[in-house]
Amino acid sequence: MSDESATTAYDDFLEGLAEGESYFLECPPGHASLPPRYACPDCGATDLEERPLPESGTVTASTVIRVPAPAFAGEAPYVLAIAEFGSIRLTGKLLEVDPDEENIEPGTPISVTTERVGEENIIAFRLR
Ligand SMILES: [Zn+2]
Repeated sequence: MSDESATTAYDDFLEGLAEGESYFLECPPGHASLPPRYACPDCGATDLEERPLPESGTVTASTVIRVPAPAFAGEAPYVLAIAEFGSIRLTGKLLEVDPDEENIEPGTPISVTTERVGEENIIAFRLR
């Protein structure tokens, strides 16, 4: 597997998120992982099935990023959230919230999408 094919598979995953056709991978014992994967990170199984990602997730933690990585320099401040969608955990930028006005509590329901930042698509969330 080349780096290029890994990038493409991840881009496909992000494209699916943007179109509401997101999926994750599940092995026979039921461990969940995000594409691209060719083997389960928990048990090494290679017969991974694509499963639809739940439409709604909940925030488990969030933090305000005020000094971002250089690629995100124009974005700060923003809220970075960790959220659970069923058995899958995603980290992304929470859109349409003012980090100075809103305190995002754990358990807040969100949906997942993507956002274009510079040359890249990133995982992003919206409040539901
Ligand atoms: Zn597994």
